[in-house]
Amino acid sequence: MAAITRFAPSPTGKLHVGNIRTALHNYLLAAKHGGKFLLRIDDTDLERSNEEHVASIVADLDWLGLIPNAVYRQSERFDLYEREFEKLKAAGRVYACYETPEELDLRRKVLLGRGLPPVYERKPEGHPVPEGVAPHWRFKLDHDAIIEWTDLVRGPQHFDPKLISDPVIRRADESWLYLLPSVIDDIDLKITHVLRGEDHVTNSAIQVQMFLALGAEHPVFAHAALLVAPEGKLSKRLGSSGVEELRAAGIEPMAINSLLARLGTSQPVEAKATLGELALGFDLSTFGRAPAHFDPADVEQVNRKLLHHLDYSAVADRLPEGVGEAEWALLAGNIDHLGELDGWLTVLDGDVVVPPLEDDDRAFLAQAADAAEAVDWSGEVWTELAAALKDSTGRKGKALFRPLRLALTGRESGPEMAPMLARIGRERSIRRLRAAAGRG
Ligand code: GLU
Repeated sequence: MAAITRFAPSPTGKLHVGNIRTALHNYLLAAKHGGKFLLRIDDTDLERSNEEHVASIVADLDWLGLIPNAVYRQSERFDLYEREFEKLKAAGRVYACYETPEELDLRRKVLLGRGLPPVYERKPEGHPVPEGVAPHWRFKLDHDAIIEWTDLVRGPQHFDPKLISDPVIRRADESWLYLLPSVIDDIDLKITHVLRGEDHVTNSAIQVQMFLALGAEHPVFAHAALLVAPEGKLSKRLGSSGVEELRAAGIEPMAINSLLARLGTSQPVEAKATLGELALGFDLSTFGRAPAHFDPADVEQVNRKLLHHLDYSAVADRLPEGVGEAEWALLAGNIDHLGELDGWLTVLDGDVVVPPLEDDDRAFLAQAADAAEAVDWSGEVWTELAAALKDSTGRKGKALFRPLRLALTGRESGPEMAPMLARIGRERSIRRLRAAAGRG
């Protein structure tokens, strides 16, 4: 069966890694089954929603490669909600309420004080209605229908509707709360799978009855354990570990996707270059029940592994000028972030700064400069140079290689010297060796 999934953020803040993970799960499930991944902007709350956040959500998903097949906005679908609401009203499944928040709060406290569950108490039929007060609306749960579903992560779920308050679905100013419009949209858009965080489990219990009340079957549900970051629970408002920060830190989109796709599952984290490869291994049955821990250090590690194996064509559009296929082949194995490439370009084509060297190393480098002038640069120049110097100076190992690397690159470590030397070239190499030899 082709899966139709959706990612449904409320545009009240920027996406954080927790939301990105939910978006990714939905994307991967759809991709695996050749289905569709929809983006639904949950902007019924016109006061808290903002266009800047809508734009940043779309841009972040785009950067991550999680491109939706279609985008919907709840704020453009109010007519549909109105029609379905009227149907539920006619069927006696929504009812008007007039309590103030203070009254409700007091009632809750009384029930709790008596050791009872603080469930909303319906008023008897025909109770007096206050005049001139606009009602808010609740959905009437069917107390006789036990709520059950098999969650693809959590297994069999059971809820007794008598222990759940009839949820408020519409405010007195007629604005919509999240629960009902989401169900109306899931039906209308033929969503087959709802994958979201386990903070939505109780919502799902209520929504199961809403699907039924609207004459539809509920989609398959899967509630993933939450993601926790070092600073605690992730929050959109904190802006913690958002795409912007990760991007600015030089992290590749596929490093984030690779990590988030496997965090909290029994599968190992592997640096994958494409979403298609990640989708092949996507499997809800491997998802664990314990909270998953997100550590920015893990992203860095995956990023490094990814870069080391990434084809030039996969990064070409993000490389600084001067890094062509040959430079990428030379440097990719030594960087953690693309941002480090500028420094290596300077090593290849610019000026290097060599730290002060001991006298005997400088004398050795003067010999190295002479040897570099004598060797044949059309062949295996590094091998020949090293062999000649080993013969003439008796140096070997670190004593031989360290001063050469320092003089030629200004660094203690880096890519293999053979291709480096060939790329730096004859004139520049000899100049660097001589400069380092003369530097006290
Ligand atoms: N707008 C809801 C949220 O951001 C959507 C939840 C859902 O149905 O996936 O939590």
